Amino acid sequence: MKKIGILGSTGSIGTQTLEIVRTNPDLEVTALAAGSNVELMEKQIREFHPQTAVMWSDQAAGDLKVRVSDLPVRVLAGMEGLLEIAQLPEMEVLVTAIVGMIGIRPTIAAMRAGKTIALANKETLVTAGHLIMPLAKEKKVPILPVDSEHSAIFQSLQGGPAGRLSKILLTASGGPFRGKKREELENITVEDALCHPNWSMGKKITVDSATMVNKGLEVIEARWLFDVDFDQIQVIVHPQSIIHSMVEFVDGGIMAQLGTPDMKLPIQYALFYPDRRPLQGKRVDFYELGRLTFKEPDRETFRGLELAFRAGRTGGTMPAVYNAANERAVALFLDHKIRFLEIAEIIEASMERHSGKQNPDVEIILEAEAETYDFIRTHYE
Ligand code: NDP
Repeated sequence: MKKIGILGSTGSIGTQTLEIVRTNPDLEVTALAAGSNVELMEKQIREFHPQTAVMWSDQAAGDLKVRVSDLPVRVLAGMEGLLEIAQLPEMEVLVTAIVGMIGIRPTIAAMRAGKTIALANKETLVTAGHLIMPLAKEKKVPILPVDSEHSAIFQSLQGGPAGRLSKILLTASGGPFRGKKREELENITVEDALCHPNWSMGKKITVDSATMVNKGLEVIEARWLFDVDFDQIQVIVHPQSIIHSMVEFVDGGIMAQLGTPDMKLPIQYALFYPDRRPLQGKRVDFYELGRLTFKEPDRETFRGLELAFRAGRTGGTMPAVYNAANERAVALFLDHKIRFLEIAEIIEASMERHSGKQNPDVEIILEAEAETYDFIRTHYE
Protein backbone atom coordinates (compact mmCIF):
# COMPACT_ATOMS: atom_id res chain seq x y z
CA MET A 1 0.00 0.00 0.00
CA LYS A 2 1.39 3.42 -0.96
CA LYS A 3 -0.01 6.21 1.21
CA ILE A 4 -0.40 9.59 -0.41
CA GLY A 5 -1.51 13.09 0.54
CA ILE A 6 -2.82 15.63 -1.95
CA LEU A 7 -2.58 19.40 -1.51
CA GLY A 8 -5.18 20.86 -3.87
CA SER A 9 -7.37 17.74 -4.14
CA THR A 10 -10.39 19.61 -5.55
CA GLY A 11 -8.49 21.11 -8.50
CA SER A 12 -7.66 19.85 -11.94
CA ILE A 13 -4.51 17.90 -10.95
CA GLY A 14 -6.00 16.88 -7.59
CA THR A 15 -9.14 15.31 -9.08
CA GLN A 16 -7.12 13.53 -11.78
CA THR A 17 -4.83 12.15 -9.07
CA LEU A 18 -7.90 10.77 -7.32
CA GLU A 19 -9.05 9.18 -10.60
CA ILE A 20 -5.75 7.29 -10.58
CA VAL A 21 -6.35 6.23 -6.97
CA ARG A 22 -9.73 4.80 -8.08
CA THR A 23 -8.08 2.46 -10.57
CA ASN A 24 -5.10 1.47 -8.39
CA PRO A 25 -6.24 -0.22 -5.19
CA ASP A 26 -2.70 -0.22 -3.78
CA LEU A 27 -2.86 3.57 -3.39
CA GLU A 28 -4.34 4.87 -0.17
CA VAL A 29 -5.27 8.49 0.54
CA THR A 30 -4.00 9.65 3.92
CA ALA A 31 -4.70 13.38 3.65
CA LEU A 32 -6.47 15.88 1.43
CA ALA A 33 -6.33 19.69 1.36
CA ALA A 34 -8.24 22.34 -0.57
CA GLY A 35 -9.06 26.05 -0.50
CA SER A 36 -12.80 26.58 -0.17
CA ASN A 37 -14.66 23.89 -2.15
CA VAL A 38 -16.26 22.21 0.86
CA GLU A 39 -18.88 20.37 -1.16
CA LEU A 40 -16.37 18.50 -3.31
CA MET A 41 -14.09 17.92 -0.33
CA GLU A 42 -16.97 16.26 1.52
CA LYS A 43 -17.57 13.92 -1.45
CA GLN A 44 -13.86 13.10 -1.64
CA ILE A 45 -13.71 12.32 2.08
CA ARG A 46 -16.71 10.00 1.80
CA GLU A 47 -15.15 8.17 -1.14
CA PHE A 48 -11.44 8.06 -0.17
CA HIS A 49 -11.55 8.10 3.66
CA PRO A 50 -8.46 10.22 4.46
CA GLN A 51 -7.52 10.42 8.12
CA THR A 52 -7.00 14.22 7.88
CA ALA A 53 -8.50 16.96 5.70
CA VAL A 54 -7.56 20.64 5.54
CA MET A 55 -9.51 23.65 4.27
CA TRP A 56 -7.74 26.98 3.90
CA SER A 57 -10.21 29.21 5.74
CA ASP A 58 -11.48 28.62 9.28
CA GLN A 59 -15.00 29.09 7.97
CA ALA A 60 -14.66 26.38 5.31
CA ALA A 61 -13.03 24.05 7.84
CA GLY A 62 -15.89 24.69 10.28
CA ASP A 63 -18.46 23.98 7.59
CA LEU A 64 -16.64 20.77 6.59
CA LYS A 65 -16.41 19.59 10.20
CA VAL A 66 -20.21 19.74 10.49
CA ARG A 67 -20.73 17.95 7.17
CA VAL A 68 -18.43 15.03 8.02
CA SER A 69 -19.14 14.78 11.74
CA ASP A 70 -20.32 11.18 11.21
CA LEU A 71 -16.85 10.15 9.94
CA PRO A 72 -13.56 9.54 11.78
CA VAL A 73 -11.69 12.30 9.92
CA ARG A 74 -9.72 15.13 11.51
CA VAL A 75 -10.47 18.52 9.95
CA LEU A 76 -7.81 21.23 10.17
CA ALA A 77 -7.49 24.75 8.77
CA GLY A 78 -4.98 27.13 7.21
CA MET A 79 -1.21 26.96 6.91
CA GLU A 80 -0.96 25.14 10.22
CA GLY A 81 -3.15 22.38 8.78
CA LEU A 82 -1.14 22.21 5.54
CA LEU A 83 2.12 21.96 7.48
CA GLU A 84 0.69 19.25 9.68
CA ILE A 85 -0.49 17.02 6.86
CA ALA A 86 2.77 17.56 4.98
CA GLN A 87 4.52 15.72 7.82
CA LEU A 88 2.03 12.97 8.71
CA PRO A 89 4.14 9.95 9.71
CA GLU A 90 1.95 7.49 7.76
CA MET A 91 2.15 9.41 4.46
CA GLU A 92 4.88 8.50 1.95
CA VAL A 93 4.19 10.71 -1.06
CA LEU A 94 2.86 14.27 -1.10
CA VAL A 95 1.25 15.44 -4.34
CA THR A 96 1.63 19.23 -4.37
CA ALA A 97 -1.24 20.31 -6.61
CA ILE A 98 -2.09 23.58 -4.92
CA VAL A 99 -1.85 26.84 -6.90
CA GLY A 100 0.66 29.53 -5.98
CA MET A 101 3.52 30.24 -3.62
CA ILE A 102 1.38 28.98 -0.75
CA GLY A 103 2.89 25.60 -1.67
CA ILE A 104 6.46 26.52 -0.65
CA ARG A 105 6.20 25.98 3.12
CA PRO A 106 4.29 22.66 3.08
CA THR A 107 6.67 21.31 0.41
CA ILE A 108 9.70 22.21 2.52
CA ALA A 109 8.05 20.70 5.63
CA ALA A 110 7.30 17.46 3.76
CA MET A 111 10.87 17.24 2.47
CA ARG A 112 12.28 17.78 5.96
CA ALA A 113 10.07 14.89 7.09
CA GLY A 114 11.55 12.72 4.31
CA LYS A 115 8.46 12.54 2.07
CA THR A 116 8.69 11.92 -1.66
CA ILE A 117 7.31 14.94 -3.52
CA ALA A 118 5.17 14.52 -6.64
CA LEU A 119 5.46 18.13 -7.72
CA ALA A 120 2.79 19.88 -9.77
CA ASN A 121 2.93 23.21 -7.90
CA LYS A 122 5.52 24.79 -10.19
CA GLU A 123 5.48 28.11 -8.29
CA THR A 124 7.43 26.41 -5.48
CA LEU A 125 10.38 25.58 -7.71
CA VAL A 126 10.15 28.79 -9.74
CA THR A 127 10.42 31.01 -6.68
CA ALA A 128 12.34 28.81 -4.22
CA GLY A 129 14.28 26.36 -6.41
CA HIS A 130 17.54 27.51 -4.79
CA LEU A 131 16.18 26.28 -1.43
CA ILE A 132 14.25 23.21 -2.59
CA MET A 133 16.88 21.46 -4.71
CA PRO A 134 19.73 21.56 -2.14
CA LEU A 135 17.25 20.41 0.54
CA ALA A 136 16.18 17.49 -1.66
CA LYS A 137 19.82 16.48 -1.99
CA GLU A 138 20.49 16.87 1.72
CA LYS A 139 17.41 14.87 2.78
CA LYS A 140 17.74 12.44 -0.15
CA VAL A 141 14.08 12.91 -1.07
CA PRO A 142 13.00 12.40 -4.67
CA ILE A 143 11.21 15.27 -6.39
CA LEU A 144 9.18 13.65 -9.14
CA PRO A 145 7.80 16.09 -11.71
CA VAL A 146 4.08 16.02 -12.49
CA ASP A 147 4.11 18.81 -15.07
CA SER A 148 3.85 16.96 -18.40
CA GLU A 149 6.91 18.62 -19.96
CA HIS A 150 9.12 18.01 -16.95
CA SER A 151 7.87 14.47 -16.64
CA ALA A 152 8.75 14.00 -20.32
CA ILE A 153 12.27 15.33 -19.71
CA PHE A 154 12.60 13.13 -16.63
CA GLN A 155 11.38 10.07 -18.58
CA SER A 156 13.74 10.88 -21.47
CA LEU A 157 16.69 11.04 -19.08
CA GLN A 158 16.08 7.54 -17.70
CA GLY A 159 19.08 5.40 -18.54
CA GLY A 160 21.10 8.37 -19.81
CA PRO A 161 24.55 8.86 -18.24
CA ALA A 162 24.84 11.58 -15.59
CA GLY A 163 26.54 14.78 -16.73
CA ARG A 164 25.95 14.11 -20.45
CA LEU A 165 22.84 16.24 -20.94
CA SER A 166 23.51 19.03 -23.41
CA LYS A 167 20.15 20.69 -23.95
CA ILE A 168 16.51 20.61 -22.92
CA LEU A 169 14.01 20.99 -25.75
CA LEU A 170 10.88 22.23 -24.00
CA THR A 171 7.82 21.95 -26.20
CA ALA A 172 4.88 24.37 -26.10
CA SER A 173 1.53 24.06 -27.83
CA GLY A 174 1.56 27.83 -28.38
CA GLY A 175 -1.92 28.06 -26.81
CA PRO A 176 -5.10 29.31 -28.48
CA PHE A 177 -3.43 32.42 -29.96
CA ARG A 178 -0.50 30.76 -31.68
CA GLY A 179 0.41 32.57 -34.89
CA LYS A 180 -1.42 35.77 -33.91
CA LYS A 181 0.29 39.15 -33.74
CA ARG A 182 -0.05 41.75 -30.97
CA GLU A 183 -2.66 43.81 -32.85
CA GLU A 184 -4.88 40.74 -33.09
CA LEU A 185 -4.69 40.17 -29.35
CA GLU A 186 -5.93 43.67 -28.37
CA ASN A 187 -9.52 42.58 -27.82
CA ILE A 188 -9.14 39.02 -26.60
CA THR A 189 -11.90 38.05 -24.17
CA VAL A 190 -11.69 35.84 -21.09
CA GLU A 191 -13.71 33.18 -22.94
CA ASP A 192 -11.23 33.20 -25.87
CA ALA A 193 -8.30 32.76 -23.49
CA LEU A 194 -9.96 29.90 -21.61
CA CYS A 195 -10.34 27.86 -24.77
CA HIS A 196 -7.15 25.75 -24.88
CA PRO A 197 -6.79 23.67 -28.06
CA ASN A 198 -5.19 20.55 -26.50
CA TRP A 199 -5.20 20.47 -22.70
CA SER A 200 -8.02 20.71 -20.17
CA MET A 201 -6.69 22.51 -17.07
CA GLY A 202 -7.53 24.95 -14.26
CA LYS A 203 -8.45 28.53 -15.31
CA LYS A 204 -5.26 30.22 -14.16
CA ILE A 205 -2.93 27.83 -15.96
CA THR A 206 -5.10 27.97 -19.09
CA VAL A 207 -4.65 31.77 -19.26
CA ASP A 208 -0.93 31.23 -18.54
CA SER A 209 -0.79 28.97 -21.60
CA ALA A 210 -2.45 31.64 -23.74
CA THR A 211 0.13 34.27 -22.67
CA MET A 212 2.99 31.69 -22.73
CA VAL A 213 3.79 32.68 -19.14
CA ASN A 214 3.17 29.03 -18.33
CA LYS A 215 6.07 28.11 -20.59
CA GLY A 216 8.13 30.82 -18.91
CA LEU A 217 7.41 29.31 -15.50
CA GLU A 218 8.29 25.89 -16.90
CA VAL A 219 11.63 27.19 -18.18
CA ILE A 220 12.58 28.30 -14.66
CA GLU A 221 11.19 25.05 -13.21
CA ALA A 222 13.33 23.03 -15.67
CA ARG A 223 16.43 25.04 -14.79
CA TRP A 224 16.12 23.87 -11.17
CA LEU A 225 14.83 20.34 -11.66
CA PHE A 226 17.51 19.35 -14.16
CA ASP A 227 20.33 21.68 -13.02
CA VAL A 228 20.91 23.37 -16.40
CA ASP A 229 21.68 26.97 -17.44
CA PHE A 230 19.03 29.03 -19.16
CA ASP A 231 21.15 28.89 -22.35
CA GLN A 232 20.63 25.12 -22.36
CA ILE A 233 16.83 25.43 -22.53
CA GLN A 234 15.21 25.87 -25.92
CA VAL A 235 11.48 26.44 -26.22
CA ILE A 236 9.91 24.89 -29.33
CA VAL A 237 6.33 25.51 -30.43
CA HIS A 238 4.79 22.15 -31.31
CA PRO A 239 1.06 22.66 -31.88
CA GLN A 240 0.03 18.99 -31.77
CA SER A 241 1.25 18.50 -28.15
CA ILE A 242 2.31 14.93 -28.90
CA ILE A 243 5.99 15.32 -28.05
CA HIS A 244 5.85 16.46 -24.43
CA SER A 245 9.52 17.53 -24.42
CA MET A 246 12.95 16.19 -25.36
CA VAL A 247 16.54 16.09 -24.21
CA GLU A 248 19.66 16.34 -26.32
CA PHE A 249 22.80 14.59 -25.09
CA VAL A 250 26.38 15.73 -25.73
CA ASP A 251 26.71 13.46 -28.78
CA GLY A 252 23.69 15.08 -30.45
CA GLY A 253 21.37 12.13 -29.71
CA ILE A 254 17.86 13.21 -28.79
CA MET A 255 15.40 11.34 -26.57
CA ALA A 256 11.74 12.34 -26.43
CA GLN A 257 8.59 11.25 -24.67
CA LEU A 258 5.40 11.17 -26.74
CA GLY A 259 1.77 10.49 -25.99
CA THR A 260 -1.70 11.94 -26.33
CA PRO A 261 -2.20 14.99 -24.09
CA ASP A 262 -3.46 13.48 -20.83
CA MET A 263 -2.19 14.67 -17.44
CA LYS A 264 -3.00 11.31 -15.89
CA LEU A 265 0.10 9.79 -17.49
CA PRO A 266 2.66 12.10 -15.81
CA ILE A 267 0.71 12.02 -12.53
CA GLN A 268 0.63 8.22 -12.56
CA TYR A 269 4.30 8.01 -13.58
CA ALA A 270 5.24 10.18 -10.58
CA LEU A 271 3.12 8.06 -8.23
CA PHE A 272 4.62 4.73 -9.32
CA TYR A 273 8.09 5.69 -10.56
CA PRO A 274 10.09 3.77 -11.74
CA ASP A 275 7.18 1.42 -12.56
CA ARG A 276 4.73 2.00 -15.41
CA ARG A 277 1.14 1.03 -14.78
CA PRO A 278 -1.59 0.43 -17.38
CA LEU A 279 -3.63 3.54 -18.16
CA GLN A 280 -6.84 3.68 -20.17
CA GLY A 281 -7.11 6.39 -22.81
CA LYS A 282 -6.57 7.37 -26.40
CA ARG A 283 -3.28 6.22 -27.93
CA VAL A 284 -1.20 8.09 -30.48
CA ASP A 285 -2.15 6.96 -33.98
CA PHE A 286 0.69 8.06 -36.26
CA TYR A 287 -1.27 7.22 -39.44
CA GLU A 288 -4.05 9.54 -38.33
CA LEU A 289 -1.63 12.18 -37.10
CA GLY A 290 0.28 12.41 -40.38
CA ARG A 291 2.86 14.94 -39.25
CA LEU A 292 4.32 16.76 -36.30
CA THR A 293 5.36 20.40 -36.75
CA PHE A 294 7.73 22.74 -34.95
CA LYS A 295 8.30 26.51 -34.84
CA GLU A 296 10.25 29.13 -32.98
CA PRO A 297 8.13 30.99 -30.39
CA ASP A 298 7.14 34.58 -31.19
CA ARG A 299 8.82 36.34 -28.27
CA GLU A 300 7.65 39.80 -29.40
CA THR A 301 3.97 38.92 -29.18
CA PHE A 302 4.25 36.59 -26.19
CA ARG A 303 6.41 38.82 -24.00
CA GLY A 304 5.68 36.71 -20.94
CA LEU A 305 8.13 34.07 -22.17
CA GLU A 306 10.97 36.55 -22.67
CA LEU A 307 10.33 38.09 -19.25
CA ALA A 308 10.63 34.64 -17.63
CA PHE A 309 14.11 34.17 -19.08
CA ARG A 310 14.98 37.65 -17.78
CA ALA A 311 13.56 36.91 -14.31
CA GLY A 312 15.27 33.51 -14.19
CA ARG A 313 18.66 34.88 -15.23
CA THR A 314 18.40 37.70 -12.67
CA GLY A 315 17.48 35.09 -10.04
CA GLY A 316 17.04 35.90 -6.33
CA THR A 317 13.60 37.35 -5.67
CA MET A 318 12.91 38.25 -9.34
CA PRO A 319 11.17 34.96 -10.25
CA ALA A 320 8.88 35.47 -7.24
CA VAL A 321 7.99 38.92 -8.56
CA TYR A 322 7.42 37.52 -12.05
CA ASN A 323 5.15 34.84 -10.65
CA ALA A 324 3.25 37.07 -8.20
CA ALA A 325 2.69 39.80 -10.79
CA ASN A 326 1.37 37.25 -13.24
CA GLU A 327 -0.92 35.70 -10.64
CA ARG A 328 -2.53 39.06 -9.78
CA ALA A 329 -2.67 40.17 -13.42
CA VAL A 330 -4.39 36.93 -14.47
CA ALA A 331 -6.91 37.32 -11.63
CA LEU A 332 -7.64 40.89 -12.81
CA PHE A 333 -8.01 39.66 -16.40
CA LEU A 334 -10.38 36.86 -15.33
CA ASP A 335 -12.33 39.55 -13.45
CA HIS A 336 -12.60 41.58 -16.69
CA LYS A 337 -10.63 44.44 -15.09
CA ILE A 338 -7.66 44.51 -17.47
CA ARG A 339 -7.05 43.55 -21.09
CA PHE A 340 -5.21 40.40 -22.18
CA LEU A 341 -2.06 42.23 -23.32
CA GLU A 342 -1.86 44.10 -20.03
CA ILE A 343 -0.91 40.86 -18.24
CA ALA A 344 2.64 40.98 -19.65
CA GLU A 345 2.78 44.78 -19.20
CA ILE A 346 1.98 44.43 -15.50
CA ILE A 347 4.62 41.70 -15.09
CA GLU A 348 7.24 43.88 -16.76
CA ALA A 349 6.35 46.97 -14.72
CA SER A 350 6.49 44.92 -11.50
CA MET A 351 9.91 43.52 -12.41
CA GLU A 352 11.28 46.93 -13.37
CA ARG A 353 10.43 48.54 -10.04
CA HIS A 354 11.85 45.65 -8.02
CA SER A 355 15.44 46.01 -6.83
CA GLY A 356 15.90 42.28 -6.15
CA LYS A 357 17.71 40.34 -3.46
CA GLN A 358 19.95 37.31 -4.06
CA ASN A 359 19.65 34.03 -2.12
CA PRO A 360 16.37 34.94 -0.43
CA ASP A 361 14.94 32.78 2.34
CA VAL A 362 11.22 31.91 2.40
CA GLU A 363 10.31 35.10 4.34
CA ILE A 364 12.04 37.35 1.80
CA ILE A 365 10.45 35.46 -1.11
CA LEU A 366 7.01 35.96 0.43
CA GLU A 367 7.82 39.64 1.12
CA ALA A 368 8.65 40.10 -2.57
CA GLU A 369 5.28 38.51 -3.38
CA ALA A 370 3.43 40.82 -0.95
CA GLU A 371 5.24 43.93 -2.26
CA THR A 372 4.31 42.99 -5.81
CA TYR A 373 0.66 42.52 -4.83
CA ASP A 374 0.73 45.98 -3.15
CA PHE A 375 2.25 47.59 -6.23
CA ILE A 376 -0.43 46.09 -8.48
CA ARG A 377 -3.24 46.99 -6.07
CA THR A 378 -2.08 50.63 -6.01
CA HIS A 379 -1.53 51.00 -9.75
CA TYR A 380 -4.01 48.73 -11.51
CA GLU A 381 -7.01 47.93 -9.27
P1 NDP B 1 -6.78 24.35 -9.92
O1 NDP B 1 -7.08 25.80 -9.84
O2 NDP B 1 -7.62 23.49 -10.77
O3 NDP B 1 -6.80 23.73 -8.42
C1 NDP B 1 -6.11 24.32 -7.36
C2 NDP B 1 -6.29 23.53 -6.10
O4 NDP B 1 -5.60 24.18 -5.02
C3 NDP B 1 -7.75 23.40 -5.67
O5 NDP B 1 -7.93 22.18 -5.02
C4 NDP B 1 -7.88 24.54 -4.66
O6 NDP B 1 -8.94 24.37 -3.74
C5 NDP B 1 -6.55 24.41 -3.97
N1 NDP B 1 -6.16 25.63 -3.25
C6 NDP B 1 -6.08 26.88 -3.74
N2 NDP B 1 -5.67 27.73 -2.77
C7 NDP B 1 -5.49 26.97 -1.66
C8 NDP B 1 -5.08 27.25 -0.33
N3 NDP B 1 -4.78 28.48 0.06
N4 NDP B 1 -5.02 26.22 0.55
C9 NDP B 1 -5.32 24.96 0.19
N5 NDP B 1 -5.72 24.64 -1.06
C10 NDP B 1 -5.80 25.63 -1.96
O7 NDP B 1 -5.24 24.24 -10.34
P2 NDP B 1 -4.52 23.13 -11.19
O8 NDP B 1 -4.86 21.78 -10.67
O9 NDP B 1 -4.69 23.43 -12.62
O10 NDP B 1 -2.99 23.43 -10.86
C11 NDP B 1 -2.39 23.11 -9.63
C12 NDP B 1 -0.87 23.30 -9.74
O11 NDP B 1 -0.38 22.38 -10.68
C13 NDP B 1 -0.46 24.69 -10.25
O12 NDP B 1 0.73 25.05 -9.66
C14 NDP B 1 -0.26 24.47 -11.74
O13 NDP B 1 0.66 25.37 -12.29
C15 NDP B 1 0.29 23.07 -11.74
N6 NDP B 1 0.06 22.31 -12.98
C16 NDP B 1 -1.20 22.11 -13.45
C17 NDP B 1 -1.42 21.40 -14.62
C18 NDP B 1 -2.79 21.12 -15.13
O14 NDP B 1 -2.94 20.40 -16.12
N7 NDP B 1 -3.83 21.63 -14.53
C19 NDP B 1 -0.28 20.89 -15.40
C20 NDP B 1 0.97 21.08 -14.76
C21 NDP B 1 1.15 21.78 -13.62
P3 NDP B 1 -10.45 24.95 -4.08
O15 NDP B 1 -10.97 24.12 -5.21
O16 NDP B 1 -11.18 24.70 -2.82
O17 NDP B 1 -10.27 26.38 -4.40
